[in-house]
Amino acid sequence: MTYLFSPPAVVSLPIQGTDARFPVGRVFCLGRNYPWPQASDPAPSEPVFFMKPACNVVEAKGELPFAPATDEFCHEIELVVAIGKGGANIDPAHALEHVYGYAAGLDLTRRDHQRLAKQQGLPWEGAKVFEAAAPMTAIVQASWPLDAELWLKVNGQERQRAHLSQQTWPLDEVIARLSRLLPLRPGDLIMTGSPPGVATLEPGDVIHAGIDGIAELTLQVGPRPASQAA
Ligand code: MN
Repeated sequence: MTYLFSPPAVVSLPIQGTDARFPVGRVFCLGRNYPWPQASDPAPSEPVFFMKPACNVVEAKGELPFAPATDEFCHEIELVVAIGKGGANIDPAHALEHVYGYAAGLDLTRRDHQRLAKQQGLPWEGAKVFEAAAPMTAIVQASWPLDAELWLKVNGQERQRAHLSQQTWPLDEVIARLSRLLPLRPGDLIMTGSPPGVATLEPGDVIHAGIDGIAELTLQVGPRPASQAA
């Protein structure tokens, strides 16, 4: 059997403390999952999932490409949960047994596209899917609950901070509910939502973000694509 062209390379993330890499299957993202007191729209009454393609995952280091076709390129720091054991209809009492480890990641967003999508009831891909839309740290094995805060600074100024215990939907519940929608597989990642403080990025901005005791990342935002340079 031959392929018409070379299949896409397997996307993977480093795993802290081992040479083995974590092959990324699918990337599920959770909508609002922390209290956002200033939000103009109400919090969803159920966990809401959307996706990014695995090929949007990159290791969080060096220069972050500025997303094309947006005036509002926004950061969202999130806890990433790496699934190591698959399953369908997972019992919340056993959900954490399906977790391999954790990482810090950015659910980068074209906020202007997302606002339009929300207003008009349209799909979110235009807001959430682009090259390097999901930079992530190495995956770290740790025991839940993580008694940790996640935070994000831009040019040294803090913009986001919350404790993981402030998540609206507990992790076991998130895994259980997602596994009722479709079977989870090893290699799946779940981005578990971002605390308030999401805001726009400008070329040259330095992002420093992390989850205490788990992982930190530093990125510098690259120039605007030539087609939209000011
Ligand atoms: Mn998000």
